[in-house]
Amino acid sequence: MANKLTKESVLAALGTVQDPDLHQDLVTLNMIRNLEITGDKVSFTVMLTTPACPMRGKIEAEARQAVTSIGGVKTVEVKMDSDVPNDGRMRGLVNMPIRNAIAVGSGKGGVGKSTVAVNLAIALAQAGARVGLMDADIYGPNTPTMLGVKKLPPPNGQKLIPADAFGIKLISMGLLVKPGQPLIWRGPMLNSAIRQFLGDVEWGELDYLIVDLPPGTGDASLSLAQALPLSGAVIVTLPQLVSLEDAGRGLNMFKQLDVPILGIVENMSYLELPDGTRMDIFGSGGGEELARATDTTFLGMIPIDQNVRIGGDTGKPIVVSHPESAVAKSLQEISQKIAARVSVAAMTANNALPINIVE
Ligand code: ADP
Repeated sequence: MANKLTKESVLAALGTVQDPDLHQDLVTLNMIRNLEITGDKVSFTVMLTTPACPMRGKIEAEARQAVTSIGGVKTVEVKMDSDVPNDGRMRGLVNMPIRNAIAVGSGKGGVGKSTVAVNLAIALAQAGARVGLMDADIYGPNTPTMLGVKKLPPPNGQKLIPADAFGIKLISMGLLVKPGQPLIWRGPMLNSAIRQFLGDVEWGELDYLIVDLPPGTGDASLSLAQALPLSGAVIVTLPQLVSLEDAGRGLNMFKQLDVPILGIVENMSYLELPDGTRMDIFGSGGGEELARATDTTFLGMIPIDQNVRIGGDTGKPIVVSHPESAVAKSLQEISQKIAARVSVAAMTANNALPINIVE
């Protein structure tokens, strides 16, 4: 019989299931682990490229379905796990086990860049990833306030220890200088600050390091974006035209530095009124239009919600304080899309070799 129950027939069945983001099948991608057949029971693990995989449920259902359809199978046990691929950009540059660094940038200040960076980091950690947040916004390092962090733990010898907040590790310029002290940075100082951030911090092993960059395309953003081995950049914008022009400039800066654009996030897209109608305070559809015009991915819209501001001021980000809100939901979805795009970028950087090869 053609589809007798063997490891080969199970792998052949699983070879028909595609990872929708990576556009290859689970067997070619080397995602099937611990395959075991005991009588009429088949069990295996699907090793995804991110715990925040937006297609997790779909892949699990399709894998189960494919194996169930083999003759003689009664029970299918599917375990979902993940191993985030390393895009290799950090290798050799810094002696640290950071697998992917993602910059969050914006054309100008006040568009919600830090809010997105903080909530993106926590959403990825909530999904099960190991996440660090490096607040490099030297003009307004406000992530400590947003996360309720007042100081760093005592250093370990020469190494700075990041603060722990809601499951993520945080280092911020705001924690390295005295409150109220003006932050004036010039090129060489910036470079040494970055080196310190990267080399002198005990990050431990990280799947994702989220980097909150200064707004705009000035010297500071440029030096920082250049100094870091970035896997990709996310651009935050408001829906209105002027903001889009700025965002377009930000996007071009990354393009010129050969940093892959992971996508565009439109923040403060609309306000939902009590009767359910939406009010477009800052215009509408701009982020999507910018994505189309620049041939980049539109990652999603984030509505206006006063709980975002309250959470930012009181040190409890919205994905923690109101995880069921529309804002938190869209931030979670955006984080999943970003994680998926990073997996694709890592695969491309690795010349599309099968990932996670087990020795
Ligand atoms: P940036 O980092 O771009 O300067 P911030 O993240 O600091 O911007 O956000 C600026 C202000 O806007 C903060 O007070 C923040 O809480 C608020 N804010 C950001 N996004 C939203 C939103 N979707 N709804 C309501 N307030 C928001």
